[in-house]
Amino acid sequence: MRRAGLVVWGAHQLALSLVRPGVTTGEMDRAIEQFFLDHSAVPLFKGVPGKVPFPAVCCMSVNEEVVHGIPSDRVLLAGDIVSIDTGCSVGGWCGDSAVTYPVGDIHSDVQRLLDCTSGVLALAIELMATRNRWSDVATEMAKFVRDYGFTVVENFVGHGIGRKMHEDPQVPNFCTPSFRRNHDFELESGLVIAVEPMVNMGSKKVRALPDHWTQSTVDGQPSAHFEHTVAITENGPVVLTAGPAAADASAADELV
Ligand code: MG
Ligand code: MG
Repeated sequence: MRRAGLVVWGAHQLALSLVRPGVTTGEMDRAIEQFFLDHSAVPLFKGVPGKVPFPAVCCMSVNEEVVHGIPSDRVLLAGDIVSIDTGCSVGGWCGDSAVTYPVGDIHSDVQRLLDCTSGVLALAIELMATRNRWSDVATEMAKFVRDYGFTVVENFVGHGIGRKMHEDPQVPNFCTPSFRRNHDFELESGLVIAVEPMVNMGSKKVRALPDHWTQSTVDGQPSAHFEHTVAITENGPVVLTAGPAAADASAADELV
């Protein structure tokens, strides 16, 4: 899974090098598709069943789009943000990660939204080292976002990941009494989950667009999404979709 995670990280490095005013989301998607091909990695998003099969190797969601946006000939403009979510498998094992990128200079309020969303993902990973149950992590995540004055999207959640991209358990970024009672899980060694907070500047509510895939905020305010695939090991959480230098060197790099 670390191998797949490193390829996904590499795809994000490529995205980072390409994202700028004037590029289209479709161009970036095609570059990442070629990158997966070059690394003998199988893209996981293309062909995902729906009313229409998902047509690209990445989801690219711009500004008020939350998740599941379809890459297209849309030209990115300075001040936009674009959430790029992608995944691949290597040797039959999956990796899945999302980053929201600023396009050129962005408004300070929007930068604050990115800081909150990447920050709440970092917080969750940190808490996974010391908390025993996901409900405790999710409760802290929701509080972190609330303290920023933003909202956690509740329609979509993270997930277990392994041989398949989407496995049990469901991994919400908020905690309800029903979750704590019926769906909570232990953070035990061997568990691998994709943690993926989606944070809205305004209302938490989302709606689907007519393309059957793109999810947008109902109020048109911006939304951000960050995701890592994280393994719990005897030595604590290891971010499988982090780069070689940033990852916890002890555990992650031994796995490669
Ligand atoms: Mg993803
Ligand atoms: Mg995911």
